[in-house]
Amino acid sequence: MVPPAAKIRSAAEVDGIFGCVTLTVPTSFEPLDPLGLDLPSLVKEFGERWGKGEYHALALFRSIHRNGVCDPRVLPEYARNPSLAEAVGAQFPVRLPPVCGRSDDGSTYKFLLKLRDGLESESVVIPMRTYKSLCVSSQVGCKMGCTFCETARLGHLRDLDAGEIVAQVLVARHVLGEPIENVVFMGMGEPLDNLDNVLRAVRILSDRRGLGIPLPSITVSTVGHVDGIRQLARLAALPAPEGFPRLRLAVSLNAPNDTLRSRLMPVNRRWNLAQLREALLEFPLSRRDDYLFLEYVLLEGINDSHAHAQEIVELLRGIQACVNLIPLNPGPDSPYRRPPQTHVREFLQWLLDAGQRARLRGTKGADAMAACGQLGNPERKRARRE
Ligand code: SAH
Repeated sequence: MVPPAAKIRSAAEVDGIFGCVTLTVPTSFEPLDPLGLDLPSLVKEFGERWGKGEYHALALFRSIHRNGVCDPRVLPEYARNPSLAEAVGAQFPVRLPPVCGRSDDGSTYKFLLKLRDGLESESVVIPMRTYKSLCVSSQVGCKMGCTFCETARLGHLRDLDAGEIVAQVLVARHVLGEPIENVVFMGMGEPLDNLDNVLRAVRILSDRRGLGIPLPSITVSTVGHVDGIRQLARLAALPAPEGFPRLRLAVSLNAPNDTLRSRLMPVNRRWNLAQLREALLEFPLSRRDDYLFLEYVLLEGINDSHAHAQEIVELLRGIQACVNLIPLNPGPDSPYRRPPQTHVREFLQWLLDAGQRARLRGTKGADAMAACGQLGNPERKRARRE
C-alpha cells in the first residue's frame, strides 16, 4: 500500500513496488479531470499522489493532447507499471464529452458537446486554405446582451471550465479528425468574462509537449471588456511560460461612436470608446506585422454609411489595427438586415482608401446556423430549459 500523503515514498521506491502490489491512493485525493490541467499542474498532482512522476505525467499529457489516447494502460511508458496505470486511470479519468449534435453546410460545420450537467457547448470547424480553424465557446450562453447576436438571447447559463474548452479542440482533432491548427474564441460567450479558464486552456493548447498550437494562432475575441484587455496586455508583455507573448486579440467594435455602440452593445455603457481606445493603444504588439483585429458586423442602414467608415478610421488612428468586416448573419427574428454584397465591398473600399487596413470575413456557415453570433439559437434555449 502506498503510504499516506505526508510520508510518500520516493519515485524509485514507488516504481519498485508498482506491478507487484495493488496500488491504493490515499483517500484524501479526489479524482481530477486532467483535460483542465496544464503540464506543471499535472506533474505536481502526480508528485503529491505518487512521489515524483514527471516521466509518467508527461507521457499521459502528450498522449491525451497529441494522440487523443487517454487510457494510461495502453501507453508504453506505463508498460512496466500496470498498477500505476490503473491508479492513474482511476485518479485522472478522462471523459471526452460526446458529440450530441452537428449541423453541416458543406464546408463549415457546427458541433455540440454534451457536458456533465446536460448543457451543451458549441464549436464551429472552419476550413482555411491548408488547415482548419476551430471557433470555440468559452461560456454556455453570454451575459453581454449585444442586440444583433443570437447567443445573447440565451443569457448566461454558465462558464466553461478549462477542460471543457480544451475538450472542444481535442474532439475536433481526434474524434472528428480535423487538422485544427488555429483556435479562435468567437463561439458562445465572452472569454474575458471567464479569463482564468480561458488562459488555462490557452496554456494547455499551446504547450509544445501537447497540441502545441502557437500563441499567434490563437485569438481571443472580446466584446470590449477593458479590464480584461488590460489584464491580457500585462500577460502578453511577459515571456512564456508565465506570459502569453503574441497571443492574438480581437475586439468587437461594431459601431464607431458611443451613441450607436451603447445602443447595439450594452458593454459600451460600462467601458466607452475612449476607454477602449486607450487600452488598445497600450496593448503590446511585439512585431510590426502583428495587428489587433477589430471586428465590425455590418448592419444595413445602421452602421454602414460613409460617415461611419470615416469615424472608424479616426477612432483607430495610431492603433496597429486591422478591421475585419463581417456581414451580419441574421437569426430567424433578427431586427437587422445584412447589407447587399456590393455595399459591403464599397464599405471595405472606403476604409482602404482612407489608409485603414481592413478585410472582408466570409460568411461561411450561415446556412448551418454556425457562423458568428448564431451559436445558441432560441429553440435550443427552450429545449434546454425543458
Ligand atoms: N464575446 C466575444 C466573442 C463572441 S462573438 C466578442 O464579442 O467578440 C464573436 C464575433 O461574432 C464578434 O465579433 C461579434 O461581433 C460577431 N457577431 C455576433 N453576432 C453576429 C451576427 N449575428 N452576425 C455576424 N457576426 C456576429
